[in-house]
Amino acid sequence: MLDMRHMNSIRLDPEKLTVVVGAGATWHDIQNAIHPRFAVKAMQSTDIFTVGGSISVNAHGMDHQAGAVRNSIRSLRVLLADDRIETVSREQNPALFDLIVGGYGLFGIILSAELEVVPNSIYWSERELIATRDLPAKLAKIIADPSIGLMYTHISTAPGSLLDEALIYTYRKTDEGGAERAPLKDVGSVKMRRLTVNLAKRSTAFRSFKWWAEKNLEHRFEACTVTRAQAMKDGEACLVSRNDPMHDSVPYLRNAMKNDTDILQEYFVPASNCCHSSSA
Ligand SMILES: Cc1cc2nc3c(=O)[nH]c(=O)nc-3n(C[C@H](O)[C@H](O)[C@H](O)COP(=O)(O)OP(=O)(O)OC[C@H]3O[C@@H](n4cnc5c(N)ncnc54)[C@H](O)[C@@H]3O)c2cc1C
Repeated sequence: MLDMRHMNSIRLDPEKLTVVVGAGATWHDIQNAIHPRFAVKAMQSTDIFTVGGSISVNAHGMDHQAGAVRNSIRSLRVLLADDRIETVSREQNPALFDLIVGGYGLFGIILSAELEVVPNSIYWSERELIATRDLPAKLAKIIADPSIGLMYTHISTAPGSLLDEALIYTYRKTDEGGAERAPLKDVGSVKMRRLTVNLAKRSTAFRSFKWWAEKNLEHRFEACTVTRAQAMKDGEACLVSRNDPMHDSVPYLRNAMKNDTDILQEYFVPASNCCHSSSA
């Protein structure tokens, strides 16, 4: 068993738009090191994971344009079973690069990575409640719209609307306009969120409450962290910087309940099999 978490150095090169990081660095550490000018290009939707673990599963997240982590890798340093240390990239040792990325640690140990970073853009945070049957058409529109930088969807787990309703969260790029980015903050209301998550596991009434709260309450507490120099127009949407929605360490998912294990399941459904479009 190798614990890589102490190999967590982070070196930003603002000219090359890259970071060279130890494989044990987490996205959370990297965000703290490169905010407010830069942001991670590709990572999971939460920031707790190590770079090595993320490359080993070729993770993907909220930036549907950036795609999987592989697309942000310039090069990797890897330790092989015969003690050699090799640099691998699309150009250098490409066959080994292909095996290491998404290779679950079976082909070598990633020691460090050179990763592309992107500007910490300003986004308008928007959300929309839709019928799940309209999701494929909606996603096609979002993917075709280059101004949408980040996106994710939550589907109802509440009785009554189970899998029928969906909340789509989108982050639309907007002009910088003298924008000032607030320092990064950890997720708030942890105890309340943890209580809601844990009660929802046990009771359908709380699953209904959780979905109701997400539809009606949660957005009112969203931190709009970016202020602009010019006067904000009345009703202007909530502005955040790219690092804000990506800086989520899901502390509310941790709990002290004995004999209780959460299992993450992912289902990859082809759009054609997803659901019946309302226009069909
Ligand atoms: C709450 C939650 C949310 C998630 N969300 C997403 C998501 O949005 N998108 C997504 O794609 N995935 C998601 N995942 C899955 C996640 O990306 C993987 O579980 C990921 O591997 C976790 O990284 P880790 O640092 O914990 O790696 P570990 O669990 O420690 O390791 C994972 C694998 O990588 C190997 N490995 C780790 N470090 C190295 C190294 N330095 N060199 C070589 N091999 C190594 C390990 O041997 C193991 O096979 C989520 C998981 C959870 C629990």
